Amino acid sequence: MAILRRSFVAALLLGCSFVRGDTTPKPVAARMRADLTFLASDACEGRGPGTAGIDKAADYIAAALRTAGLHGAMPDGSFFQPFIVRGSPSLEPGAEVSLTGPGDDVKRLALKDDFQIIGLSGSGTATAPVVFAGYGITCPEPSYDDYHGIDVSGKVVLLIRRAPRYGDKDHPFADDQTMQQHAALQTKIANAAKHKAAAVLLVNDASEKDDPLMEFGYASGAAGSIPAAQIKRTFADALLKSTVGKSLAEIEQAIAKDLTPAGAALRGCTATVSATVERKKIPVKNVVGVLDGVGPLADETVVIGAHYDHLGYGGTGSGSLAAGTKAIHHGADDNGSGTTTIIELARRFGGDKSRVGRRLVFIAFSGEEMGLLGSKHYVDHPLYPLDSTVAMVNLDMVGRLAPDPNTGKGKLEVGGTGSAKQFDALIDRLNGTAGFEVKKNKAGVGPSDHTSFYLKGVPVFFLFTGLHRQYHKPTDTVDLINFQGMEQIADLAETLVRHLSTDTPRPEYVKGQGSLFTGGRMSVPRLGFMPGNYDDDADGVLIGSVTKGGPADKGGVKDNDRIIAVAGEPIKNMTTYMLAMGKQKKNQPCEITVVRDGKQLKLTVTPE
Ligand SMILES: [Zn+2]
Ligand SMILES: [Zn+2]
Repeated sequence: MAILRRSFVAALLLGCSFVRGDTTPKPVAARMRADLTFLASDACEGRGPGTAGIDKAADYIAAALRTAGLHGAMPDGSFFQPFIVRGSPSLEPGAEVSLTGPGDDVKRLALKDDFQIIGLSGSGTATAPVVFAGYGITCPEPSYDDYHGIDVSGKVVLLIRRAPRYGDKDHPFADDQTMQQHAALQTKIANAAKHKAAAVLLVNDASEKDDPLMEFGYASGAAGSIPAAQIKRTFADALLKSTVGKSLAEIEQAIAKDLTPAGAALRGCTATVSATVERKKIPVKNVVGVLDGVGPLADETVVIGAHYDHLGYGGTGSGSLAAGTKAIHHGADDNGSGTTTIIELARRFGGDKSRVGRRLVFIAFSGEEMGLLGSKHYVDHPLYPLDSTVAMVNLDMVGRLAPDPNTGKGKLEVGGTGSAKQFDALIDRLNGTAGFEVKKNKAGVGPSDHTSFYLKGVPVFFLFTGLHRQYHKPTDTVDLINFQGMEQIADLAETLVRHLSTDTPRPEYVKGQGSLFTGGRMSVPRLGFMPGNYDDDADGVLIGSVTKGGPADKGGVKDNDRIIAVAGEPIKNMTTYMLAMGKQKKNQPCEITVVRDGKQLKLTVTPE
């Protein structure tokens, strides 16, 4: 009842701003409905970074926080913490590859028929002599170096795709993984740049029937520093025959035979490679509002967060699970629900004028769907010191509270219970009154923004009502939201935040609670690997290292593979990976798609 009375007071204080001319304050669930209805409306365009709609949502949230009595967290009093995200690469018009010689004839190749720019290409134009550098591989142990004895500095390097004896057990590398690593396009282009090449021309190895050109978007990842294009083998063949007197196929066979690199300057040949690859800079912003601390704990901080961005209009690379659809992804549950709940919490705490305790920092994050980018930005540029940030509470998808079939109580997942010594007992105690069917998860990392804080040493809580069929589809709409449930969750979160902002001593951080992939008691079925990178800007999840004997290893997944689909669902980043894995069953085989050396492979794995 205390909670109800407090919110009643808060509503009374602020009531007129919610319903103009209406003297009775709206019940909590109704005002939450009003917020969520706006955030999930067509006007907000699915809150996709780069849309006008997401800015409308940001303005709405900032206004609601201000009305609730919060002030902006930026030094100038603004509620907006701006940062930049990168869109996926696009090839601008004007790409060119021209080959000259030997002799004077200039041959200008045709885009898509004769050449294609590689998605990993940098931007720029290079005109320089051509040096053939075999497979473009430099492997220290055992030693194999295509750059041995040749100088490619300032030159255009001509490279063969993959590796010598590719797919053959008797290859020149320590193991298959090392071979894959060296065969990867990214490694090759980076190695060429390391040898100061001005540009890369790549040709298929002989294993590719009909010599197809890769689509521009086929290989994606961090942009390279030099222009890189693939050309048809016939052009490379002509250059090689007229300079070193051998065909490309003959050279490949010779390298395969005795593993002697065959690098050579192609006398009299020059090439121009020109590409402009744009990765659009998209300005986005976190919305950050503050209630100052009062009393002896005033200099310490509790963060209450929820991402407000979503997938916009969907489409390839957005993280949408509605393949081929271009439509507003309303994101009512994901994460209009969490955003609405932190607004509600801001109203309650903002309306409590006798509050004593730590500073409360409310953050609506942007860029979450692109890989937790807003929370990453905040922890890298915190507005209040992280070492005195005692806890972070994250709400992501709290709009679908449903009864447990056995107990009839609302099922609520609570993550991070192992991230501080006190948290397990605390949530048990609070839930004693709240009465949820709580599914606890110790892990401090997971598929949402609390991960960024946990990895910086801040104890976290994560509230979540579970996945559903409308997840990441345009049909995640307001009519499917359980507002009474959201109110109950707001009540629990309020009590939780009240404890976190007043309890002494502060929560004691516990390290190593649930690496995503090896982690303690994650409820999500796992494949057994460490991610290679938390936040690169390519789609998919890069495998850093596969756990020996784990499900991924058994299924043939290799280090440096990039998982781009799980059971047919596209994987955009760690978040979508975790959510897709959450739908798989332990000990039941499922198909995943990985990209290895620019090629897609389907593998069957059995999660544990
Ligand atoms: Zn979300
Ligand atoms: Zn999402």
